[in-house]
Amino acid sequence: MNRGQEPDIQSILQDKVSRRLDPPEDHQIPSPATATTEVGDQASHSRNGTLDAHDLPPSQPTAGWSVEESEKLYRIRGWGEPYFSVNAAGRVTVSPQGDRGGSLDLYELVQSLEQRDIHAPLLIRFSDILADRIERLNACFAKAIARYNYSGRYHGVFPVKCNQQRHLIEDLVRFGQPHQFGLEAGSKPELLIAIASLTTPGALLICNGYKDLEYVETAMLSRRLGHQSIIVLEQLDEVALVIESSRRLQIQPTLGIRAKLSAKGIGRWGSSAGDRAKFGLTIPEVVVAVEQLRAAGLLEALQLLHFHIGSQISAISVIKDALREASQIYVELARLGANMQYLDVGGGLGVDYDGSKSKSAASKNYNMQNYANDVVAEVKEACAEADISVPILVSESGRAIASHQSVLIMNVLGSSISQDYSVAPVQADEHLIIRNLYETYQSIDPDNYQEAYHDALQFKEEAVSLFGFGYLSLQERARAERICGACCTKILAIARQDNDLADDLEDLERRMASLYYTNLSVFQSAPDTWAIDQLFPIMPIHRLEEEPTQRGTLADLTCDSDGKIDQFIHARDTKAVLELHPLRSGESYYLGMFLNGAYQEVMGNLHNLFGDTNVVHIDLTPQGYHIAHVVKGDTITEVLGYVQYEAKDLLEKVRKQSESALQQQQITLPEAQLLLKNYERSLRSYTYLKSVDLAD
Ligand SMILES: *Cc1c(COP(=O)(O)O)cnc(C)c1O
Repeated sequence: MNRGQEPDIQSILQDKVSRRLDPPEDHQIPSPATATTEVGDQASHSRNGTLDAHDLPPSQPTAGWSVEESEKLYRIRGWGEPYFSVNAAGRVTVSPQGDRGGSLDLYELVQSLEQRDIHAPLLIRFSDILADRIERLNACFAKAIARYNYSGRYHGVFPVKCNQQRHLIEDLVRFGQPHQFGLEAGSKPELLIAIASLTTPGALLICNGYKDLEYVETAMLSRRLGHQSIIVLEQLDEVALVIESSRRLQIQPTLGIRAKLSAKGIGRWGSSAGDRAKFGLTIPEVVVAVEQLRAAGLLEALQLLHFHIGSQISAISVIKDALREASQIYVELARLGANMQYLDVGGGLGVDYDGSKSKSAASKNYNMQNYANDVVAEVKEACAEADISVPILVSESGRAIASHQSVLIMNVLGSSISQDYSVAPVQADEHLIIRNLYETYQSIDPDNYQEAYHDALQFKEEAVSLFGFGYLSLQERARAERICGACCTKILAIARQDNDLADDLEDLERRMASLYYTNLSVFQSAPDTWAIDQLFPIMPIHRLEEEPTQRGTLADLTCDSDGKIDQFIHARDTKAVLELHPLRSGESYYLGMFLNGAYQEVMGNLHNLFGDTNVVHIDLTPQGYHIAHVVKGDTITEVLGYVQYEAKDLLEKVRKQSESALQQQQITLPEAQLLLKNYERSLRSYTYLKSVDLAD
């Protein structure tokens, strides 16, 4: 999907922000925000980064609640460190350089972007986080190499498929330069991106995926441009293609083989490995490929062994097993006469989405350093035993590099009205079923609440069937349902104290939850939550000094009942509802979805024609931050274009309709003008909703 043009003006905007560093002495170019706000407003950011009281919205810290409790509840230390935390004002702060640099208040940033007409839903990218992830990965390998006295080096690449956005790839190449960090392409379009974008001398360009002649030739010819392109054979057919191209072009390629390991992956992508995997050569095929290359005089070119056992490997034991098997294949290839130089361990390095540091699917039971240590140690051992020199280590970590850098900000447009379940005392002449329900209601206490729950539900069901047979009036049925609701509220309050919800009470929590309507399309911005039940940490980015008294699930804007989020991270397993604050009139309520920088953007689709969201790139500067790029989300005209509608044709058709309606006096002239004005304006606007002041 093409993105709109980025306005030039934004690239020169600098903004002042509350940070731990001192504010600048010199004046920045004023932003539209500062230009329109009252004099003195900017000055209210005090030097130590805290805010003056009049800057805050009417804040209502809850007695017996603290910011620390919010931190615990949303598990932000578990998944967010060192980039995300909560400040004393109860807002999420971002420290893009971890402990090494300044931080900014995410809520303030969102507000200042809104003032510049960059509205939610909004994807904010922190380039410094991307830089920090690259630094960390390289530092972990450097440390492991030093620790095990490994005589080879580490030479990482970023798999382009993980996030192909141009600004991100350009940043990545720039940040990766000191480490000669390269790129991995998994398709022809990605190869074209990689050849054009990779400007780092000596960096590797790993060419994976299905290949045709054009792919192979382009990859080989790119060596003439100075690229360190390595063509990885993924299918046996590709061997002949490579031999033929090499002969015709008179270019000596560097080749790799992707092996299907028998070591199994784990979880969602477990089937990426094993004999039935889609990619790679089986061991018999590896042997055939080696002989074909030998016969063609190209065995010298075979220098790399690659494997990839799937993404988000949550257990370190699985990684170790794969490494052991792959190291052995590497050694054997060297013995067969290949000129082995590189071992490419693929992706799989996990992200701790739920902060549990466990081997649950949304987590991982190891850290980046453990991973690097195991790669280095396993390979070294295998090579030492076989008495061959160790390879250059390549990894293709995508998720671990790209996830943290972006945050999706969504605003809540409204919530389902929580029902009024107050009940008047029952009268003696009311229907027996209503009297039974009321009696149940009165009897609820901590000793019998579970039993009372089942009674209440059963009585309610009976009331519904009595209504069906004509024995209850509509008012009586309403009364029965209201008393049942009151029972549930009372039971839930007791059950929550117990802290250990039995299964049916968890069901009750779900039943009683409010719906929070969010300005978002799950299908566009977080497709994996729908497609594969992926969990991302979600939390309010402000009001964290206040106890979140509501329980809710999130509904998106699409007319699809799957367009919802009703699974959230939790200490054990998942939870069905998220703790949220009641909405306040006249004030936007913002939620952040974190760690979603990998895979989501391009997998997103145009369901209901909700398009790409706005994206901003934020760089930290010594003065505060800098808006490096604004990529405006799709307009309605753009998404209509994807399904072959021309905006001007549509407008013309509506103009004709209103002309004839005018003639038949079905519409007044001012009405027709308003209709056409709105139609035209909508065509130019964002596909998401403008938030209406809740007080209106
Ligand atoms: C997807 C993919 C990767 C990236 O995996 P992550 O788990 O995101 O690091 C690496 N290599 C190959 C071959 C892939 O298909």
